[in-house]
Amino acid sequence: MRKWLASLWLILLLPLILSLNPVVYDAGYLAQYQSPEGIRFLSYSRAWDEKQLRALYQELLRNKHGKELAALREVQVYGEEHARMNGEYHPATRVITLYNGDRKRTTAAMRNTLSHEYGHHFAFYYFPQHVLPIQTEWKTLRGADDAYSLAFWKYWNGYHKWFAPEIFADDYMMLYGATQKLNGHDEDVFAKMTTPENEDLPNVLENQKLQHYLEQGSGLHVDQDRVLSTPKWTKLSAHALTVNIMQRPDILYRFSFDYYEGKQQTVTAWTHRGTLTVSSAGQNGTVSLPFEKTLLPEQKGFDGSVCVTVEAVDLHTGLGLKRVLARFEMRDGAATQ
Ligand SMILES: [Zn+2]
Repeated sequence: MRKWLASLWLILLLPLILSLNPVVYDAGYLAQYQSPEGIRFLSYSRAWDEKQLRALYQELLRNKHGKELAALREVQVYGEEHARMNGEYHPATRVITLYNGDRKRTTAAMRNTLSHEYGHHFAFYYFPQHVLPIQTEWKTLRGADDAYSLAFWKYWNGYHKWFAPEIFADDYMMLYGATQKLNGHDEDVFAKMTTPENEDLPNVLENQKLQHYLEQGSGLHVDQDRVLSTPKWTKLSAHALTVNIMQRPDILYRFSFDYYEGKQQTVTAWTHRGTLTVSSAGQNGTVSLPFEKTLLPEQKGFDGSVCVTVEAVDLHTGLGLKRVLARFEMRDGAATQ
């Protein structure tokens, strides 16, 4: 029954799928490698020789996979940059294309793009209905009832992150994608963490119902070591914000306090950003963030408003999240709530 339904969906989808830019087979490749499953890896970049393509295949295997892997036909690496994307997946031909290979010369540099594009393959294989303009169980469980279906008239006009296929592919990257360890002493650690493009949707790493739905549909188990909870604030006192964090080693948090003149938190009203970095190691699950540590000395007696953002990165997996944590007003250096 499921298979029959999936086939019906695909027939219904065909006009939609075929209207995408067709991937034209380009025989001018510089190197090739064929995996044991028959997936062809083709390089159109001098930086990616056969050995590199073999390594890219090993990298692909680091993404959790099942029987859908053998249905992937091709992975192409192009040297040049694409104006709008790092990579793409074509559902009709089941081909992944990666761009910017001349500059991104290692499998690590391609890791997240490959995971995301493979996420599209995963989504089209097990849940092809996700692109249809209908209400689906996935949309409800994802908290993405307003997500767009695969339509083309405004895909690139700032709406990219609100399309169901893009949300789905990023969810795959976060739940099943290849991970990397990060160094907590690296000052760029928050820039290197893996995060979904859409930071407004609920955190998929703590959405157990959705994870169960994906596990049921694909047979692929979500490793619970990946779960990363969004910190919540529990108390706002006059001089500090108290926050609940996970009691697990290897998580690094950065709290950014953006101070604004007045209530309107606009670019022109912005005055200062102060940050506090906290490691989960040795904490009892509750941290107090004193405002004075993020205010400039001349901001004593600050009047205005504050927006607190949190970034969290799991150093073990490199997976992270970024969220607005709290907004409140201050008078004479103290929170007024
Ligand atoms: Zn995508």
